[in-house]
Formats: sequence, C-alpha cells, structure tokens
Amino acid sequence: MMNYTVIGAGFGGLTALEALRKLDPDAHLTLIAPKPEFVYFPSLIWVPTRLRKADDLVLPLDHFLDGLRVDFQQAAASGLKDGGRTVITDKGEFANDGLIIASGGRFIRKLPGIENAIVPCSGAKEAQQIHDRLHEMIAAGGGTIAMGFGGNPVEPSGVRGGPMFEFLFGIDTYLRKQGVRDSFRLVFFSPAPKPGIRMGEKAVDRLMAEMKTRGIETHLGHKRKGFEPAKVKTEGGEFDADMILFMPGLTGPAWVQEAGLPLSPGGMVQADMTCRVQGWDKTYVVGDSGSYAGGPDWMPKQAHMADLQARAAAKNLIAECEGRPANETFRVELICIVDTMDSGTMVYRDLKRNVLFPRSVLGHWSKRLFERHYLSEFK
Ligand SMILES: Cc1cc2nc3c(=O)[nH]c(=O)nc-3n(C[C@H](O)[C@H](O)[C@H](O)COP(=O)(O)OP(=O)(O)OC[C@H]3O[C@@H](n4cnc5c(N)ncnc54)[C@H](O)[C@@H]3O)c2cc1C
Repeated sequence: MMNYTVIGAGFGGLTALEALRKLDPDAHLTLIAPKPEFVYFPSLIWVPTRLRKADDLVLPLDHFLDGLRVDFQQAAASGLKDGGRTVITDKGEFANDGLIIASGGRFIRKLPGIENAIVPCSGAKEAQQIHDRLHEMIAAGGGTIAMGFGGNPVEPSGVRGGPMFEFLFGIDTYLRKQGVRDSFRLVFFSPAPKPGIRMGEKAVDRLMAEMKTRGIETHLGHKRKGFEPAKVKTEGGEFDADMILFMPGLTGPAWVQEAGLPLSPGGMVQADMTCRVQGWDKTYVVGDSGSYAGGPDWMPKQAHMADLQARAAAKNLIAECEGRPANETFRVELICIVDTMDSGTMVYRDLKRNVLFPRSVLGHWSKRLFERHYLSEFK
C-alpha cells in the first residue's frame, strides 16, 4: 500500500487529499499541518464589515479527514531528506512514498515600519483586528484609512491584490450604509501606475473609475519608503492615516529554503506545469508555495488555481509511483470576483480570453453561493 503525504491543510492540500483518495481508494494518506483546521480566506473580506465573523471562517477538519481516512499529523514541516521520502517536522520525521507540498505562501515583511500596518490576508486574527479598529474609528468620529498592496519584484505571480480592492470597496459601502462615509478619507496607494493589471487593462480601468465614483483618493506610481505609526511614506510624498492596511508581495514558505528544494528567483518551489518539483522524484508542489515554469506571467496565486494544480499533481504522483507517464498539466485560469459587499465584478482570464462582466448583485451572490458550496464539505 502506498503512503502519500500532503504538507498543508489549505485549498491545495485538501483538494490534493480528495483527489488522491478518489484515484487510490486503498492508499495510506497522511496530512502534515500545524492545526487540524481550514481557513476559508476568500470570506475574510467580510469580517471588518460584519457580514461574517472571523471564527466562522476557521473550520475544524475532523469530519473531512475522517471521511477521507486521512492520518493527520499535527506538525510543522521544517525540512526534507532522502530525496523527499522523509519529511522532517517539529514533531519528528515521517516517511512517504510520494509527496505533495501545499504549505501556502508567505508575505515579504521587509518594508521599514511594516509593523505599523495590518497585513489583512495573514488570517482571521488580522481580519478581526481591522474590524475592531474600523469600529473604534467610527465611534471616534472618523479618520483616514490607507490601503495598498505590493508585489514580489522577481516573481510576477507573487502578488495578492484582489482582496485589497475588496476590503477597500467593502469598507466604503459599509461606511455609506452606516451614514458616516463623509467623516472618512479612504486612500488607495500602489507603486504601480496600473495596480491589478494581471486582471487585464479593462478591469484596472473599471476599478480606477469605481474609486473615483466613490470618492476614494489614489496615490499611484510612487515607490513606497515605509510606514510610521499613522503615516505612509513614499518617494512621491507622505500622508497620515489612522489605519494602514497593506498586503506585501508573496514569497515561498520559509521551511522550503532549509529543505534543499529548487527555488524560483522569488523564493517559491520551482516546478513545471505538471506540478512536479524540478529534478525531484515523486515530489510535487501546488498552490501558493510553487512557481510553475511554462505558465503565463499573469498566472494567479488563487484558491481556484491551487485546486486545479492539486488535481493534476495527485494524478501525476500516482502515475509516477505506478510507473506510468506523469504528464497531466493544469489549466491556467483567473476567476476573480471583486466584491463590494452588495455587488461584484467578475473577471475571467485564460490563455485565449480576458472577459470583464458588468458589476452586478449577481457577482456578490455568486461569491456567497460558492462559499456555501465549499464550506458544506466541512460540516
Ligand atoms: C483575504 C483573501 C481573499 C482571497 N480571495 C480569494 C478568492 O476570492 N478566490 C480565490 O481563488 N482565491 C482567493 N484568495 C487566495 C487564496 O486564499 C490562496 O491562493 C489559497 O489559500 C492558496 O492555497 P494554498 O493551499 O496554496 O495555501 P493556504 O490556503 O495558505 O494553505 C497553506 C496551509 O499550509 C499550512 N502550513 C504552513 N506552513 C506549514 C508547515 N511548515 N508545515 C505544514 N503545514 C504548513 C498552513 O497552516 C495551511 O494549512 C484570497 C486570499 C485571501 C488572503
């Protein structure tokens, strides 16, 4: 009986486990992750504006893991040996016949004074922090909120901009509903003259027009210098802010550097379009941890991509272990709904098309329906 091991209990890891179980009902499946829980990141955007509670988006995995007969090892991977056949963790070593790495990405926290900003996509705790600060500001009579995001200069896919637009528009909508928008100044800052360009030119124009309509100020095209308590500093000037939300660029997890894995220039595990780690046998990477040579430069780091990669990786891992050709590649597509709390704009991009749908209430409700569908698996 084969022992397949997955590192990480996020979108990529859990989809990989499902796919492995479907393809090999008899295999021994092991999951290594720090906690037996799954964080549903896409709905964190609704925590500050009270559409969701942070705790409701952290789901226990017991039911899911029992159903798939997964041997859960509560541990954090810290290295690999024997060419990937042994995972080293803080709780000991675990042998495997094949490995899928899905331990997510890591934010580059190098900007001076970054501790003065909330990094909203780190998790449920940070989303709750934004909620608390926002409501303190409302109680205190308003103020300035600055929001921005950065990239990884040597890894085009190492950027997470979509959720920042959603926090921005969601907070704007919420403040309007509370009747206090006039007491707030919202400023969006980015070193890119066209932030979010990976969604396509038309999408960026739409987002910028939306900011103008909503009275959101922009500070674009200036390299960031850092943050101070209540201040954003760029080469194009500085401005005060009572709350700063900043999403830095993404790099690979810290532990992969110790593991001797091949890394892309941006610090992610280097794979190809079959998700196989370059030069390593029976070792695959999926989701935000990886860099996939051969894909377009707009390839997103998204849950949806992690799912597509996980299915391809599971198929290839089993094929490789059974001595069959392992040449399944994953489909590259960007599906992004930029939510505003009461409506949403959907952007679709693949190798042939780049379509921007009109903003509508349907966009918002599709995001909610997708959430319900995804989360039902854990109940
Ligand atoms: C606010 C927000 C909104 C988003 N909205 C969307 C959206 O609308 N649509 C979309 O498609 N994507 C969205 N994304 C992006 C999406 O959530 C990520 O791309 C996705 O989570 C990546 O999946 P992953 O499996 O690679 O990593 P993750 O989901 O980050 O999971 C990583 C897992 O690895 C574990 N881990 C970490 N270190 C170790 C270690 N050393 N050993 C073992 N385990 C470890 C973690 O605990 C976690 O379980 C959003 C992200 C955020 C933050």
